[in-house]
Amino acid sequence: MRYSQYFIPTLRDVPADAEVPSQIFALRGGYVKKIAAGIYDYLPLGLRVIRKIENIIREELNKKGAIEILMPSMVPVELWQESGRWYAYGKELLRIKDRADREFCYGPTHEEVIVDMVRNNIQSYKQLPVNLYQIQAKFRDEIRPRFGLMRAREFTMKDAYSFHSNTESLDKTYQDMFEAYSNIFKRCGLKFRVVRADSGNIGGNASQEFMITADTGEDAILYCDHCDYSANIEKATTIIKNIDSEPAKKMELVNTPDKKSIEEVAKFLKVPDYKTMKAVFYRFLKGDKLGFAMVFVRGDYEINETKVKNILDATTIELAKPEETSEYWGCENGFIGPNKPSKKKTDYQVVELFDNSLTNAKNMVCGANQKDKHLLNFNPARDLSRFEDIVFVDLNMTREGDDCPECHKGKLKKERGIEVGHIFKLGTKYSKAMNASYLDEKGLEQNFIMGCYGIGVGRTAMAAIEQAHDEHGPLWPVQIAPFEVILITANMETPEQVTAAEKLYIELQNKNIEVLFDDRKDRIGVKFNDADLIGAPLRIIIGKKIAEGIIELNYRTGNKVDITFKGAAELIADILKKL
Ligand code: ATP
Ligand code: MG
Repeated sequence: MRYSQYFIPTLRDVPADAEVPSQIFALRGGYVKKIAAGIYDYLPLGLRVIRKIENIIREELNKKGAIEILMPSMVPVELWQESGRWYAYGKELLRIKDRADREFCYGPTHEEVIVDMVRNNIQSYKQLPVNLYQIQAKFRDEIRPRFGLMRAREFTMKDAYSFHSNTESLDKTYQDMFEAYSNIFKRCGLKFRVVRADSGNIGGNASQEFMITADTGEDAILYCDHCDYSANIEKATTIIKNIDSEPAKKMELVNTPDKKSIEEVAKFLKVPDYKTMKAVFYRFLKGDKLGFAMVFVRGDYEINETKVKNILDATTIELAKPEETSEYWGCENGFIGPNKPSKKKTDYQVVELFDNSLTNAKNMVCGANQKDKHLLNFNPARDLSRFEDIVFVDLNMTREGDDCPECHKGKLKKERGIEVGHIFKLGTKYSKAMNASYLDEKGLEQNFIMGCYGIGVGRTAMAAIEQAHDEHGPLWPVQIAPFEVILITANMETPEQVTAAEKLYIELQNKNIEVLFDDRKDRIGVKFNDADLIGAPLRIIIGKKIAEGIIELNYRTGNKVDITFKGAAELIADILKKL
């Protein structure tokens, strides 16, 4: 490719709303162009990277026997009503009407469509298992689209769905996909970690995420320093030992004027945070039904809202408004304690949840459900009015330094990651809801058992930049770099340089090397800056020394060596093979 005839609209300045390196370089380097919030053009350079990732994905999935298909982006409402997700998915789902007022959505994921395809075409266990995938544009109306392609609204996803007649078969395909994903990210030249994950909007009972480790990652990961436990912080758990052996003391009501937060109360009453109980009141929707939940956790922990949402099986949860707390709990925020005070009947169910950090807690400080008052020496086992009915569940935000829940020996450490892939065991969630079945060996109807497996293609490209870049641009792994080599002439006015460059350009192409020949008449400084943004692993400069048969080979990572013009193409081909 000749630069002068190509289309790389690089920008000199950092775009105003760009926050992270991948976004800055993708815009500055002319890989993508924003046309609306979370909606981008893929320009030639960006598309080259995307296609390379897609091809690696295809090759690895095909090796595992997955079969490529392509489903429509527009999905009729009926399918989403059947699965129940039309109501449950919330505002991220873009809903559209056609000219006859029929409703559709632009698919954010395609379980419904594939279940419909398979239920109409597979009748017998003999046709199972089958694993179908597509690489397609998805739309999610993200509340905060940001970081360029990392959290876009329209983005390319590879989504695969497998169908089985028994769980052993699902386990095998899940394992195959685990291996395929590991190979894909390895071949993309990326460092990654596989973590246990929450299943979110998609559902099912087991899932793992593939995380590219990078400081700018939106996700936090906790991993054990002793065994191989690692989990998304949304999912991570710990074992909390309440080692207090002190006897239960007499409960007392004390004045705590205006002391509301854990910090204020603990300081005022001179107790450590972990001897207090924190209470947070949530409002939640289950389908379109409103409910409220009071959640108690030990004062040194935060509440993990994903866990609360899962326990409640809620569609959405958020903090209740202060007036709702007073109305439905019967006391204002800051002084709330266990044992709901208001006896009046309300229209809404109020659920009480206790984190297992409080299971054996002793002599705690908690709100007294009266303004400006707290209780000293509250002992859940003695003082909870319905202790025997209360289940303590895992609701805490597990922290760095907590004990590993798996080996019980190690401590949890924290790092940040970018979720690029997610694999799920779905079970029969969709096939039951959509009445999708096959006939088993005995001729009985059974619901398909399913798995589903996604990769964010654009996000993977961006994650590669986050993982490897310098202040001038990306350091692409050779496997997904837009070009392998950039060939630069120092001065296009010098015929000797031009002749040599033209010759090497042809030789490199004959060796199937992806080379971008910067044949522009610009200053060398401009060419170098653009080459940094394009980030090809190798850069060849043909300058004055060509008179002595010498050219320069620069690695994008910094090293520079002089090489002879003669045999340069062979040498470059050899180096590329080893990168
Ligand atoms: P997140 O928690 O980041 O919103 P998710 O759990 O909603 O992701 P999945 O539904 O599992 O994501 O989708 C599969 C893959 O699609 C993700 O692993 C991610 O790589 C990619 N992906 C999801 N949302 C986006 C987005 N808004 N922009 C780009 N890629 C995305
Ligand atoms: Mg999401």
